[in-house]
Amino acid sequence: MHLRPRSIKLDKQRQILVVDWHDGSSAEYSWNSLRDACPCAQCRNEYSAENTNNTDMVFNLNPVKSFSLNLVELAGNYALKLYWSDGHNSGIYGWEYLKTIDSLTT
Ligand SMILES: [Zn+2]
Repeated sequence: MHLRPRSIKLDKQRQILVVDWHDGSSAEYSWNSLRDACPCAQCRNEYSAENTNNTDMVFNLNPVKSFSLNLVELAGNYALKLYWSDGHNSGIYGWEYLKTIDSLTT
């Protein structure tokens, strides 16, 4: 099957990204879960670093993060590029990847 979104909507009120797929299904992604799933190398490294931290470090970690999404842009016709309010924009979310994280979060 060829994955393609029919429409993509950034819902700032509910802080979600809504993707309507061409097959008629639709998916909602909370901004925080999207950011957690950011596929860029920088975020992946951060993630693995957090996992290897020993527990003494817990209180030095940042408090619960909350991210907001400023803008969503198409990257070619195969992916989305997300622009976060903290300036982060190196994550490219392919359609396949979006489908995958949708099935993980619901
Ligand atoms: Zn990232």
